[in-house]
Amino acid sequence: MEFIRLRGIGVSPGIAMGESFLTVPSSLAICKETIPVSQIDKEIERLKAAIQKTEKELLEIKEKIKIIAGEEQAILLEAHLLILRDRSLLSGLEKIIRQDKVKAEWALEEINRKYRGIFESINDEYFRQRQADIFDVLMRIQRNLKPETSKRRDQPSDRKVILVAHDLLPSEAASRFSRGNVIGVALDMGGPTSHTAILARSLDIPAVVGLHNITAQVRNGDFLIVDGTDGEVLINPPQAIRKEFQSKKEKYDKYRLELRKIARQPSVTLDGVAFKPLANIELPEEVSVAFSLGAEGIGLFRSEFIYLQRQSLPTEEEHFEIYSKLARRCYPRPVYIRTLDIGGEKSYSQFNLGAEPNPALGLRAIRFSLKNPEIFRLQLRAILRASGQGNVRLLFPMITEIEEILLIKELLAEVKSELRRQRVRFDENIPLGIMIEVPAAAAITEFLAKEVNFISIGTNDLIQYFLAVDRSNESVAYLYKPLHPSVLRLIKQVIDQANEAGREVGVCGEMAADPLSALILLGFGLRIFSMNPIFIPRIKKALRSVELKTVKEAAEEILKLKTSQDIEEYFIERVISRHPQAFLTTQLT
Ligand code: PEP
Ligand code: MG
Repeated sequence: MEFIRLRGIGVSPGIAMGESFLTVPSSLAICKETIPVSQIDKEIERLKAAIQKTEKELLEIKEKIKIIAGEEQAILLEAHLLILRDRSLLSGLEKIIRQDKVKAEWALEEINRKYRGIFESINDEYFRQRQADIFDVLMRIQRNLKPETSKRRDQPSDRKVILVAHDLLPSEAASRFSRGNVIGVALDMGGPTSHTAILARSLDIPAVVGLHNITAQVRNGDFLIVDGTDGEVLINPPQAIRKEFQSKKEKYDKYRLELRKIARQPSVTLDGVAFKPLANIELPEEVSVAFSLGAEGIGLFRSEFIYLQRQSLPTEEEHFEIYSKLARRCYPRPVYIRTLDIGGEKSYSQFNLGAEPNPALGLRAIRFSLKNPEIFRLQLRAILRASGQGNVRLLFPMITEIEEILLIKELLAEVKSELRRQRVRFDENIPLGIMIEVPAAAAITEFLAKEVNFISIGTNDLIQYFLAVDRSNESVAYLYKPLHPSVLRLIKQVIDQANEAGREVGVCGEMAADPLSALILLGFGLRIFSMNPIFIPRIKKALRSVELKTVKEAAEEILKLKTSQDIEEYFIERVISRHPQAFLTTQLT
């Protein structure tokens, strides 16, 4: 048997070794078949029956997932049920069948093509991944249009397997993982923010995606190694390599245990200074994973995803459902809900944003919300209604000037008095905060801080705007330097001014997740670090292994240096000489 080594994207860390099981490709690929007018009603009935069956299946999978992975993970299936029950889906399909006189299969194909077109125009990996949910539901209906006999052969239940597939639809992943014998996943397609990836992470199933054509290279029963940490898959490796990976697996399993241990340890430096690791999430089902990794709250809930899961604008009730679930799940820990951050690279159909000559500098985030007060008001009402328990905070993105805060406050006061009139309970003192992402706002932090309760520095955007470097443009990536002396000076100034104003200040950009940057930020006086939850253990470990005194002194010195390279070298050397453990944390995650 030939030994093949493939590189992909590791989306769920850890190593799995075992037998492969290939699932059949998920594809709608079918031909257009027309039907006579007399058969149209019958065809629609056939479609309705398949939709009903799909609903029953999804409800069953949801119950199973609830048992093995918990309530949060089952929400994925709820999202699918919402798509399935959306009346516009059935009416859209019906319309195609009637107008084009085609079979239901073709109508599904047409609808899929329509959505694909919409989602592909969105230049954001996370949102594009949401198309997978719609595709998933359509696939399921498609399958249920077929007679029982032509359905897929199933995975063995008597032994552990590594799933190999072209693409694993989220509900299919949920259904297969729920059987308890999937130990690894390898896919041709996929990205790190897909539901399948999130589910694999939360169940500790190592997964590698984006392998392009692994399905063409693996046969059922091949021996596979899936290295979800380094993003590699090995097909039929020789004994020596199996042994090497066996010891890597043991090391990793030990490391994972240590991470879980760190998650439970107090967040304090060697000299007892407390800091707070928080999590950035996009889906409510990520809450429990975040807490299991040591998050002490949700520091950034990106509310955009709520809009993306629907074809029309979400209603106040839909917003409320999600926020109140979040608040309940987090209680008593805080959850910082960020209002809609649309525009820029995150645009999509419901809003008819129109093409802007320079979207990054255009109508995005709070600018959009203030221009569309009905949409903004509805979101504020829903967030306030979910705030009754007192652990919700309101965070506004992309603030540029003080006038915006005043407008927000006016609107908020109106919404509050409306709620009071309607005798709806909410947190009268809900804390308000702004994101510092625009350099102009950073420069006047002392004024802005006085208007709000807390400051959250969005370093991803702040760096892009300050250095004039598009954060997603590879040709200028070499200039995107979080440790550029100008960036560090600016961030230090923001932290100082917020602290002087007596306001809580945190960082919720990627910088908070990088051990070197996080140690520098700690030295600058930062205590709140919000990040993708998978990075929390390593940051906790780094921060727990230093004394504040050391990093503070080193952080003061680097402000005198001229290049990011000098800064990096000096800081690492200075900290390591006192705390050799400080940078030993980054090897595995
Ligand atoms: C940021 O800009 O740093 C941030 C956290 O916001 P987002 O990445 O969602 O733009
Ligand atoms: Mg941002």
